[in-house]
Amino acid sequence: MKIIDSTLQPQIDSTLDVARVRADFPILELQVEGKPLVYLDNAASSQMPQPVIDRLVRYQTRQHANINRGVHYLSETATAEYEAARCKLQRFINAREDREVIFTSGTTDSINLVMHGYGRKFIGAGDEIILTTLEHHSNIVPWQMLAEEKGARIRVVPINDAGELLIDDYEKLFNERTKFVGVMHVSNALGTINPVREMIAFAHARGVPVLVDGAQAAPHMKVDVQELDCDFYAFSGHKMCGPTGIGILYGKAELLERMQPFKGGGDMILSVTFERTTYNSIPHKFEAGTPPIAAAIGLGAAVDYLSNVGINAIAAYEIELLNYATEQILQIPGVRIIGTAAKKTAVLSFEVAGVHPHDVGTLLNQEGVAVRTGHHCVQPVMLRLKVPATTRASFAFYNTMAEVDTFIAGIRTVQKIFI
Ligand code: PLP
Repeated sequence: MKIIDSTLQPQIDSTLDVARVRADFPILELQVEGKPLVYLDNAASSQMPQPVIDRLVRYQTRQHANINRGVHYLSETATAEYEAARCKLQRFINAREDREVIFTSGTTDSINLVMHGYGRKFIGAGDEIILTTLEHHSNIVPWQMLAEEKGARIRVVPINDAGELLIDDYEKLFNERTKFVGVMHVSNALGTINPVREMIAFAHARGVPVLVDGAQAAPHMKVDVQELDCDFYAFSGHKMCGPTGIGILYGKAELLERMQPFKGGGDMILSVTFERTTYNSIPHKFEAGTPPIAAAIGLGAAVDYLSNVGINAIAAYEIELLNYATEQILQIPGVRIIGTAAKKTAVLSFEVAGVHPHDVGTLLNQEGVAVRTGHHCVQPVMLRLKVPATTRASFAFYNTMAEVDTFIAGIRTVQKIFI
């Protein structure tokens, strides 16, 4: 099996006007420790542009009401805007139908929904679930909980020292007991882009459904769920210029229809008696109670914004940032990059010899530079690569080459202080 997946590489279409884009992000004007903020923690949460903030304000000041239950103007307006946001998300990932797009509270919630709705119904004792070493804890722990409950077994795809999946080993893990695959599209800790399309095709040839954790892919590259042919695709609003508290689960309609609801309550039902409850159709079956209406509408505005900037232009520009930052950091003696996959998004994890990542992060903060330090919710990756933690700079399309220079100068300052 070839692991080349050229469609997932950004097309060179770098028409992005960074200065104009930056003007849309008021938070980027902040000073931290008396220095201009250099925000390089985008893999944790990205920032919101003014059109998204404005959209939230408009909803809160002129459209706020509960949805699906009022005949009055405001409720009808809020319902229409919420459903319009669903359609925007459908178009953004090219889902076949809007009912395949479920609003959740985030990637973690989306994965838990699949675990409860699909896993608890279709995975049993002795069955096997394939995950990868790279997975975020949110795509490990729910499956461990299921495996414990059902007596199922988790099999793990190993990685090489560069942080790439060993695809031959993936293929060897399949047998007649394999019932499910969970794989991340892009590694949050290392930036590795996984060959998910080929992995899905391999699994499907054996009748096995695949969930893709797209938390780190959806903000950075064109995602087409029909082209990937994934069964489920999960991602979070706050990593793609949207608000917190909102996420998406895409699922193929025929699978969603066969699944059990995850949460019970209002809106997810057609009728309730004490004898029997009938569930609503999808997507409502999975949206019990009052959903995060404002956040969903805000996420709709965020995908409009990303689409206007151009997702291919974003991808191409972020790779330029990554290449420049990689070149520069490699010139600093004592710095080692963790995660050197051939195909990466703009995530740069590294260690500075003799300095704890926490100290690197704290001193960079004094230069106004925001990075993430720690295990990045991927402890198995840290274990495999034999590093307790890393410092991670993760770029977004509003970062500049000058900010990369500030970041690099910051690392040199760290070294001067510690070494
Ligand atoms: N999966 C990946 C790859 C992530 O990077 C993250 C967040 O960092 C998550 C899942 C969890 O996302 P959330 O906290 O929005 O549920």
